[in-house]
Amino acid sequence: MIAVAGAVAGAAYVVAALLFILSLAGLSKHETSRRGVTFGIVGMIIALVATVWLTAAGAWGTPSGTTGLILLVAAVVVGGAIGLWRARVVEMTGMPELIALLHSFVGLAAVLVGWNGALYDAGLDGALADIHHAEVFIGVFIGGVTFTGSIVAFLKLSARISSRPLMLPGKNALNVGALVVFVALTVWYVLTPELWLLVLVTVLALALGWHLVASIGGGDMPVVVSMLNSYSGWAAAAAGFLLNNDLLIVTGALVGSSGAYLSYIMCKAMNRSFLSVIAGGFGIEAPKGGDEEHGEHREIDAAGAADLLAGAGSVVITPGYGMAVAQAQHGVADLVQKLRERGVDVRFGIHPVAGRLPGHMNVLLAEAKVPYDIVLEMDEINDDLAHTDVVLVIGANDTVNPAAAEDPTSPIAGMPVLRVWEASNVIVFKRSMASGYAGVANPLFFRENTQMLFGDAKDKVDEILMQLSRIAV
Ligand code: NDP
Repeated sequence: MIAVAGAVAGAAYVVAALLFILSLAGLSKHETSRRGVTFGIVGMIIALVATVWLTAAGAWGTPSGTTGLILLVAAVVVGGAIGLWRARVVEMTGMPELIALLHSFVGLAAVLVGWNGALYDAGLDGALADIHHAEVFIGVFIGGVTFTGSIVAFLKLSARISSRPLMLPGKNALNVGALVVFVALTVWYVLTPELWLLVLVTVLALALGWHLVASIGGGDMPVVVSMLNSYSGWAAAAAGFLLNNDLLIVTGALVGSSGAYLSYIMCKAMNRSFLSVIAGGFGIEAPKGGDEEHGEHREIDAAGAADLLAGAGSVVITPGYGMAVAQAQHGVADLVQKLRERGVDVRFGIHPVAGRLPGHMNVLLAEAKVPYDIVLEMDEINDDLAHTDVVLVIGANDTVNPAAAEDPTSPIAGMPVLRVWEASNVIVFKRSMASGYAGVANPLFFRENTQMLFGDAKDKVDEILMQLSRIAV
């Protein structure tokens, strides 16, 4: 019975792994993303059913096996119910922190699986026992770093703690030192697997995870989120080795490598050093400047904005996190339609890290049925901004900050930004003069061609729509 169940589950795991690969491939394009999600869901259902079935076959008749089966089903029901409820109620703007929290669970699970592997006598000896001890130690370490790192990311993203980087003296030496100690402890544990060493590496990993993410500033948080995604994949793969579960190893490796690649692409897009970011801001010094006064700003009201738009030949909209907060995307889509009906050339410029998760703006605009062909990436639109009549900056701030391009002392120096200030007119929709997520002042607001339109972005877009209907075509 167990042999048959093992073979069937093994085959089911291969199918599930293939579906996960197809899912990742589907998710890489707008047009195929729905199919990608469906593949992922089907793969996960197959994996869950096969695992429950395998456990049930092994549990048959033995008291401890039955308890394990009951615990497994209870965990799936409770976890599934909480997951469904959270996924239903979460706001789009709350997704990154939810993802960070979910990564922390993977890390915690890897720590628990590792500890379980250490406390449970697997009856191995010789080289197999050494490998088992190394797996336990490495799994606990990766899991611990992922656990606290993800919790700090969650706290930063949900603004429960400041997004400013923690700058402990000798922070780089601390990180490198922790890694050296980890390697030494691993060798020690393989030679003499004593429990106090495992306690020590658990504490070390928890402290390192905390310090790594706390040291990274707000502007680099997108990379941190995808990096933790990668860590959580490796933590799951480590747990897979301990549990002898091929699917967990394959899935963990898929998540680990795709997360690492995404982090690499984001680092390139943001002109950041990949190694520096994964090493907790390694080599980045405490930023100076960024908060100086830039002079007087000018304001405009909805009627003035409507006049400017009605007289424009070309308009570019650069949305940001504020558009998501205000849920202004539907109003913005109506505004685009009205302007296009008037013969105005309207396009969107999307910064790779606008909002709070990769692709945030694209999802909102797709939801509001904005045509894909007028939604351009930053690199596709940047050179056109100098020939644009009006740029509407709707709830964006860091992603349009000229300091990144012009002030080498700025904390976001070197990060590519949308060069909106090159347009003839810029209207910035926001509620106050407050800074953006990176906590850096924005000189754009004080430029001669910039006017501030204060208020909730949705209300202001609706007011402009009303005003526009009064202006003859
Ligand atoms: P920012 O966070 O820089 O700025 C958003 C602006 O929106 C704020 O200045 C805020 O100003 C304004 N705003 C907020 N609510 C409203 C509202 N209801 N109506 C009008 N305006 C509003 O956003 P960006 O999108 O420009 O930049 C994203 C930042 O987030 C970057 O620093 C990025 O690194 C970081 N980040 C990105 C992630 C990603 O993967 N995309 C993940 C994690 C972080 P005010 O309060 O005055 O209204």
